[in-house]
Amino acid sequence: MTTDLWFDPTLCLIGGVWRPATSGRTLPLVNPSDGSEICQIARGETADIDAAVEAAQAALDGEWGRMPAFERGRLLTRLGQLVLEKVDELAAIEAADVGKPLTQARADAVALARYCEFYGGAADKIHGETIPYLDGYTVYSLREPHGVTGHIVPWNYPMQIIGRSVGAALTMGNAAVLKPAEEACLTALAFADLAVQAGFPAGSLNVVPGIGAEAGAALSAHPGIHHISFTGSVATGALVQQAAGKNVVPVTLELGGKSPQLVFDDADLDAALPFLVNAGIQNAGQTCSASSRILVQRGVYETVKSRMAEAYGALTVGPASDDLRVGPLISNRQKEIVNGFLDRGADLTIAGQGTLADHAPDTGAYVRPTLFADVPADHTLARDEIFGPVQVLIPFETEEEAVRIANSTDYGLVASIWSCDGARQMRLAKQLRAGQVFINNYGAGGGVELPFGGVGKSGHGREKGFEALYGFSQLKTVAAYHG
Ligand code: NAD
Repeated sequence: MTTDLWFDPTLCLIGGVWRPATSGRTLPLVNPSDGSEICQIARGETADIDAAVEAAQAALDGEWGRMPAFERGRLLTRLGQLVLEKVDELAAIEAADVGKPLTQARADAVALARYCEFYGGAADKIHGETIPYLDGYTVYSLREPHGVTGHIVPWNYPMQIIGRSVGAALTMGNAAVLKPAEEACLTALAFADLAVQAGFPAGSLNVVPGIGAEAGAALSAHPGIHHISFTGSVATGALVQQAAGKNVVPVTLELGGKSPQLVFDDADLDAALPFLVNAGIQNAGQTCSASSRILVQRGVYETVKSRMAEAYGALTVGPASDDLRVGPLISNRQKEIVNGFLDRGADLTIAGQGTLADHAPDTGAYVRPTLFADVPADHTLARDEIFGPVQVLIPFETEEEAVRIANSTDYGLVASIWSCDGARQMRLAKQLRAGQVFINNYGAGGGVELPFGGVGKSGHGREKGFEALYGFSQLKTVAAYHG
């Protein structure tokens, strides 16, 4: 596998120079489809994070800090083109590293290019305002970068999360330090290599792979960063916020969810069915905005149950290279977490289950997609994020009951309403506690233009769209008195 890479995966990118971790230590990267070692990656630690933050600050004090917005936009656009030229290689790397079926990995690479295109085009269109004020004053605002931004990224969608977070930060003129996940960091390194090729100045983007408790903790506690964005678990997000809080550094947190789809008796079931299932099994359910709860009104409950069960029965799980709808989980550790939930569901009814491909190696991190029926809304499987291909069906009688159940978890990332009643659609769009609400669809194709983020334990702050560019900048007010 290493020979297929066009960059050296054992290095960090710091100040425009590819170099090993200061300690010289490395970590194995494992292919979850069969448990084999893909290659070694750098095990960056505090000294490497220190060097990366210093290099980022130097970039801000130098060429990068003086670069006009339209030139930053050109670099982003060029980077997007380079990503598109490498789409197939990036997809193959991600499939090996994350276990993502090839079609899904390719979609992530295309999305990364879209982030670069969207933000590249927006770079010179974000500006401050003039503000009418007292006689004798001229007042205006400037939108300025935070400075050095930290980005801690998980393993489930490395390319998409790097695109939405690092892409937006660079667009606004910040200098970024990226800490990818130790389980999957090859496309982060590939992205950094392409950014160098695109012409990003030394230090504008730095990448330090490493373990969360080492490199990640060092980055979130670093006094030299001015903003940090984190995507991952609630527990780690809270640690990152605490560490950043000691330096009064603003934080964007995207922490997952337990997102519901509400299916009413008047729904177009033929339209809904593919979304109901796909939103639970895409990326083997390891999606922050996965829909793991399907709330169904009594009149169509049995129909939805049997049709979803049939769809589950047709699912086969196998290696990423088979390009099935479901691949392995990221690791055997994640498989244990998901199996723990399946054990805790032993008292529940399994309505449908996928099968494991005969040739799927025992050493791979496979679990069978599982649909549970008639699940009480307060059951752990209906309340807690599982991060595996597991969905629960919850029946309801009335609209009020549906909203109460939908809003009853600690999370609030995404929700969707399947109904042909326009008034209900509008009412529920307001009542549902979520950062994004979809009507008669789920996810809207994941458009890079659509602001995204959660409420409650799903986190705070918004990424994607223009909102991300506001979030990765700060407003300065200038008031001039001229009499
Ligand atoms: P995690 O939150 O621990 O890891 C995410 C990122 O944080 C990785 O880059 C990791 O290196 C880093 N990290 C870990 N400890 C850190 C620390 N102390 N300080 C700073 N950074 C640190 O998630 P995980 O252990 O990989 O997965 C556990 C669970 O988290 C999953 O089962 C799932 O429920 C959830 N998860 C959610 C998302 C999401 O997109 N919302 C992504 C990954 C995992």
